Amino acid sequence: MKFLPVLCLALLAGCASAPLKPGGGETAAAKAANEVLIFRDGDEWKARFRFAADAPLWAFERSALLRVEQLPWRPKSWEVISPGVSLERIGDFDVFVAANGDVPREVTIRFRPLAEDLVADYDPAIRLSDGTLALYGGHFNAFPMASREAIAALREPQEYPTHIALTAAGAPLLFGGQRVTRADDVGDNYVYVGDVTMSPDDPVATILDPGLPAWISTRLRDFTPSVFRDFETQMGPHKSGRPMVIASWAGTDFGGVSTGGSVSPGMITMRLEGKQLLKETPGALNQMRWFIAHEAAHFWLGQTVGYATPDEAWITEGGADYLAMQAAVRADASYDAKAFMAEARSDCIAALAKGSLAEARRRNDQRAYYACGALFAQAVDDAGRPRGKGFADFVRGLIRDDADGQVTGAEWLAAARAFGVSGARIGQIEAMVAGKLDAAPAIDALLAD
Ligand SMILES: [Zn+2]
Repeated sequence: MKFLPVLCLALLAGCASAPLKPGGGETAAAKAANEVLIFRDGDEWKARFRFAADAPLWAFERSALLRVEQLPWRPKSWEVISPGVSLERIGDFDVFVAANGDVPREVTIRFRPLAEDLVADYDPAIRLSDGTLALYGGHFNAFPMASREAIAALREPQEYPTHIALTAAGAPLLFGGQRVTRADDVGDNYVYVGDVTMSPDDPVATILDPGLPAWISTRLRDFTPSVFRDFETQMGPHKSGRPMVIASWAGTDFGGVSTGGSVSPGMITMRLEGKQLLKETPGALNQMRWFIAHEAAHFWLGQTVGYATPDEAWITEGGADYLAMQAAVRADASYDAKAFMAEARSDCIAALAKGSLAEARRRNDQRAYYACGALFAQAVDDAGRPRGKGFADFVRGLIRDDADGQVTGAEWLAAARAFGVSGARIGQIEAMVAGKLDAAPAIDALLAD
């Protein structure tokens, strides 16, 4: 059983990037934003687009295919009600196409919330077995284009200012950790449509599918708030308000174990499925805890303070893994932290035998950042121990001292030195970041008692 937080890095890169810019769409003259209202109308979900400009085509920024069928998902979910416009696939994009001239300024669709996996993008909906659901706003972002040829030639989506609001006929929603009846500025986030009991001091809103096997609910209800509370005690407040954790249950049709997870700003989602999850096993429990703890750590190390470039993802991924390891030990004294660090050591050695850490992602070796970064975090943890400090205190210092919220490798190393890591050990980390080498001696020197 292995969670695949495939969207984690994309998310963090997105968080670090510039705010939404008006798109360079060929027909985009106006600076006004598109207005989208997602709403429930009786038993149906609808969305009303009010476009800010005239264009013969509006292409959807997020147009990923269904993972299983490798087909566009919108035709399975969306039905255009307004006359004079249809939904088509052109090149890599789902597109509103005008029958004549321009797409009407107002277009309404009805849609069936689709809880299916997309290729490297967020599921359009997350559906729980009591009928409640979460809807992802980012799929309603569209940008104007002048011709089919232009779309067919387009490699990267364009951005266009869009305000997305969601309401469910007065039913309670959870958005940004708050109970509301209308979510405004939904953006690239999920809104949960359903009621959640929370007390004001809950550090996280935990939404558990009532269909989940009881042992999973019990464990998650216990572990999720405690990991957030511990991190807050150690590292101070994070900047995302109250996060949401949603664990959904897809039943036992599948005989084995199927799990998936994703992270979007302010939210962690897990999808659990399979007969083998009906009974508690240490392996399944550890993986679930690990996923939540690692992603929870990113609310501090990743979102409140992040890296300046994905080449230095060892700062956030290695750090989050180390914090998750410490959380695992707190939750379960029998957790084998030594085995975790031994795996980090051997994976880091294998990665650096092929080239530098900075270039690992271009070798498609994302694991290198987790493995080597966890070793660097341990060197910091070791340096603080004589003063009763640890890696979490170091992260707290990064959050306090970093003005722009983006820590460069050089800044991290300077902070580590100030935290007590020796110059010789800083040199070992620098060598591992910079080039291909036999990392075993450097690691042994880095982590010697
Ligand atoms: Zn991560």
